[in-house]
This record gives sequence, structure tokens and C-alpha cells, in this order.
Amino acid sequence: MMRKVCRERSCPHTRCHNFGKPDHGSIVRHGFIQTKQDRWRRYRCLVCGKTFSSNTGTPYHRLQTSRKVFDEVVHMSVEGVSKSSIARIKKISWNTVARWLERAAAAAERFNDLRLNKYVLKELQADEIRTFTQGKDRPTWIFASLEVWSRLWASTVVGRRSYANTKRLLNDVASRCTFTKPPLITTDGFKYYARVIRQIFGFGCVYGVVMKTRRKDRVVKVDRYRAIGSRWQLEEALDRSEDSSKLNTSFIERLNLTIRQGSAYLCRRSACHVRVTENLERHLDLLRCYYNFVRPHRALRFGPEMRTPAMQAGLVNRRLSFREIFTAVEVVRHFLVVGVVVVLRRGREEDRLRLAA
Ligand SMILES: [Zn+2]
Repeated sequence: MMRKVCRERSCPHTRCHNFGKPDHGSIVRHGFIQTKQDRWRRYRCLVCGKTFSSNTGTPYHRLQTSRKVFDEVVHMSVEGVSKSSIARIKKISWNTVARWLERAAAAAERFNDLRLNKYVLKELQADEIRTFTQGKDRPTWIFASLEVWSRLWASTVVGRRSYANTKRLLNDVASRCTFTKPPLITTDGFKYYARVIRQIFGFGCVYGVVMKTRRKDRVVKVDRYRAIGSRWQLEEALDRSEDSSKLNTSFIERLNLTIRQGSAYLCRRSACHVRVTENLERHLDLLRCYYNFVRPHRALRFGPEMRTPAMQAGLVNRRLSFREIFTAVEVVRHFLVVGVVVVLRRGREEDRLRLAA
């Protein structure tokens, strides 16, 4: 039999000497794996002798349907279609939909973590969305922050409206961004922002607050004031800004609306509220990945080209697809390693285990 060497693959078995290393000619083609819908190429590592397929270590692992259907399910979910509706439209069971989305979210979380790095921070807006888990008496808050110039959804935190969560949100931004000029930060009047921003950015930023007073769901009064930085620093920051001419939180409010539309959990007057906060967090990971890397942003149109926020921020040079995100080398490698660790530590989370097998 003629052995065809595959140079673009590396061994996914963590105990192998060649694990994850760029291939030196030790991976060969090894027939096919036949499923109901499709057949996948199978490979064999000549160092450890084990086999794997092109789906090993990706959310597509051991998928019985085509990858296209999987991608479509994920796409529907981030456009705000509920799991039950997806199950009915696609004629697959609810449990399968839930399992697929869980896997997809794990990959998206990893992808966000690795790729949302070293973006330039010019103007940041932060806000919270109120929702509830289990019962209406238990409010949960979704904190989100947006880099206004690139429209990048920089960070998000789900939980109580507390000091610790406010700090987590802004720490995440501070640890990933770079800036040369003092960034302009705008938030609503929530009490902890000022304290946290002072701790994290010190006097290296300009911070303004926009307080809206509502009566019967209508804004009746808007108060703006500067909390950190001098008057001329604020004027300079607003001059530099291509998007804002005065202190505002409109861009983050627009993002909040997008988040609501992209999640069946968060639609107003919806029957599908979240039972477990973790599910909401997972969905937001997926949605954030979609918003930043996949979906072109209307405000980022440059002639015939529509950019994604990640393109505008210089993190990638083109629009990505879910397929590219789920099969990204770094995501796959992480799944294989983490999968094994999880198995050793907890012996549960069957899915991750299966991903690592
Ligand atoms: Zn091997």
C-alpha cells in the first residue's frame, strides 16, 4: 500500500512524543470513517500507532450528521432562535441541540480567550443588562464592555451587580488592551465603576458618567459629568474620538440590544428564560465570538467591504466562519489537553471526555 504523508496534520494524542508538533512526515492517511451522512478521512500516527480523524479535538468529533448542519444550528442559536425551535426546524432532538451548543460554546470561549488580545483601546463604554435566572425574584446581570472605535465587544461578566464583578469586567479589558493616549471611558452611574476604574487605570484615563433618569420607561433627564481627568483632557479625548462628540453610552446600549436579539434567553416577554447561569455564560461566549469575528458590522462599512469588529481592531485580516473557529489549531490543541486534565480531575463532563478521546 502506498503511504501518503500528510504534512498539515499533527498527532492529537497527548501521550505521543509527537503530540501537537508540526509534522515531520509521521502522519499517514489511513482509510475512512463512514457515518450515516458522510465519510471522514482517517489518519494514523507512525510514532504512537494511533489513529484519528479530521474531526478529532474539534466540536465536530463523532458527529453523526454533516458539519454543515452543526454550523447551521450554531448560527440559528446566535441569531436568537431557541433550542426547542431549532430542534423542530432541523428535526433533531432537543438534547442533541443542547449538546452541540455546549461544545460550540466551549470552542468559542477558548477562541475568544486566545484571539481577543492586544487590541488598541481608544474609547470604552460599559453597561449592565438585567435579567433573571430561575425566578423573577433573582436578578442576574450581564456586564458588557465595548471598544467604541472598533466596535469590539471586549469583555463580559455574568453575575450579581457587585464590586467584584465590575472589577472582573474591567480587569479583563485592562489585561488585554494596549493604549498610547489616555482612553476615554464612559459608563452609567453605577456606584462601583468609579472606584474600579481609579484602581485599574489610575489617572491614565479620562472617565465620564452618563446618568439617565427614567420615568415610565422614558428618559426624562440626562446628567453628564467627568469623574477622572481634567476638563481639557476630556475635550481632547472627545476631539480625538471619531464616534462621540459628547459623553454618551449609546454604543454600548446598541450592543445591549444586539445581545438581547442574539439570545432567546434574553428576549423580552419570552418563555425561554435561563435556568442555570452557566448556560447563559456559555451562550454569551458563543454570541461574542459570532459578533466579533463572524458577523460583519453595519457601522464598519468601507465601500464594498463590510468589516467585523475583530478586523477593525486588527486581530484578524478577514471575516471568519464558524468552521474556521471550531477547527482552529489552538482550539483543537486546548481541547485535547484540557479534555485529559478534566478527566483526571473530575471524571465527569462526559462530553469533554469524548472530545478528548
Ligand atoms: Zn502519535
